[in-house]
Amino acid sequence: MIAPGSTIGILGGGQLGRMLILSGRNLGYRFHVFEPKGPCAAGMVADKEINADYADEGALKAFAEGVDIITLEFENIPSKVIDMLGAIKPVMPGSRALHICQHRQREKDFLKESGLPCVPFEYADSADSLKAAVESIGFPCVIKTAAFGYDGKGQIKLNAAEEAADCDYLWDFLGNPPRVVVEKWIHHVGEFSVVCARKADGSKITFPMAENVHVHHILHASIVPARVTEVTQKTGAELACEIADRLDVVGLIAVELFLEEDGSLIINEMAPRPHNSGHYTMDGCVTSQFEQHIRAVTDLPFGSVELHRPTVMINLLGDVWAEGEPDWEGLLSDPNAKLHLYDKGEGRPGRKMGHFNLLGDDIDATLKAAEAHFESLRGA
Ligand code: ADP
Ligand code: MG
Repeated sequence: MIAPGSTIGILGGGQLGRMLILSGRNLGYRFHVFEPKGPCAAGMVADKEINADYADEGALKAFAEGVDIITLEFENIPSKVIDMLGAIKPVMPGSRALHICQHRQREKDFLKESGLPCVPFEYADSADSLKAAVESIGFPCVIKTAAFGYDGKGQIKLNAAEEAADCDYLWDFLGNPPRVVVEKWIHHVGEFSVVCARKADGSKITFPMAENVHVHHILHASIVPARVTEVTQKTGAELACEIADRLDVVGLIAVELFLEEDGSLIINEMAPRPHNSGHYTMDGCVTSQFEQHIRAVTDLPFGSVELHRPTVMINLLGDVWAEGEPDWEGLLSDPNAKLHLYDKGEGRPGRKMGHFNLLGDDIDATLKAAEAHFESLRGA
C-alpha cells in the first residue's frame, strides 16, 4: 500500500489532473505534476509543477525520482516515456493499456480480437486507401485520425458518396495523418458510459452507468441513473470489467458505449483514466471517480459507488463565456447545484472550462432544471 503522505506523480496537467489532486489531498497525498506547458490547471493545486518536454529525459527522471508512484490524466503520452518512467517507479495504468487506448486502430483491433462488440471499421494510411475504406464501410461514416483525437477533433462525418469524391482534399484536411480509422456511423438510440476502477489484485468496482448527450461530438450532459433497463446497465458494467481485466488496468477505465435499437451495446472507445462522463460522481456518489482512482493506484480499499440521488452533469465549454463572464447567480442560488470551475483562464470555444452537477429526485425533472440553469448562464 502507498500510504497517505506519499507523493503521487501525475502526467498531464489538465482539469482531470486537477480534480484527481483535489480529491487525493483529502486523503493526505502529495502531488507532482509533469506537463510540457505551464502554468496548468493541475499544477495550480499541486505541490510541484514540472514544465518540460516529454523528450526531456533528465526532467522525466527527476520527476520520477521525486515521487512514490506515477499515474496519468492524459493518454497521449509516448510509450517510450512510460517505459522509461516505469523502470524507476510504478506507473499506473501500465504501458500496454495506454498503448492500446491511445490509438484507435490498436483499440479496435483489441476489441475485435477480444470478441467484444465494436463499430464496423476499416483503416487507411493514404488518400487512395481512404477511398477504398470509405467505399467498403458505406454511408454515413466517420473518419477519425488514429492518434491524438479528442472531443471530436480529427474527425469528419461523411453523409453521402459525394462528400467522399475528393479524398485527396479530405486527407489534406485531416492533416496528412499517418493513419485513420473509418467507422460506420451508428444510428444509436443513446450513448452511455461506465467507469470501472480496478486494483492490482484484480478487484474491480463500477460506477453507475451514465447516459450521455453529445453536441457537436463533445459531451454536453451526463444523466444518472441512465434511463435504460437494468439488463443494459449490467451488460455495460460487465463489458467495462472485462476490458479492465484484459488490459490489466490499475486505476480507472472509462468505456463509451452506443445502445442500438435492438437493445445491444457496442463499444465506441475507452480511456484509461478519469472521464468527463464520470464527473457526476463528484457530488452524486459517496466516492468520486477521482478518489476511486487514487484509492486504486495506492491500493487502498475501494469507496462506495452508491448514488445519493439522481444527478445531471452539464459541461461548461468556453462558448458559455462568449459574451463575457457567465451569470452564475441562478445556478449558485440553487442549493442542489454544485459548480466546478477549472481556472483555465480564457474561455475559448470548445475548451472545457468547468461543469456543474445538479442533484434531484426525479431524473427527467432534474435534467430539465439542469438545462434551464445552463440556458440562464448566458442570460446576463
Ligand atoms: P472522442 O475521442 O473525440 O471522444 P469519439 O470517437 O468518442 O471521439 O467521438 C465523439 C462523439 O462523436 C461520440 O461520442 C459520438 O457522439 C459521435 N460518434 C463518433 N463515432 C461515431 C459513430 N461511429 N457513430 C455514431 N456516432 C459517433
Ligand atoms: Mg469519446
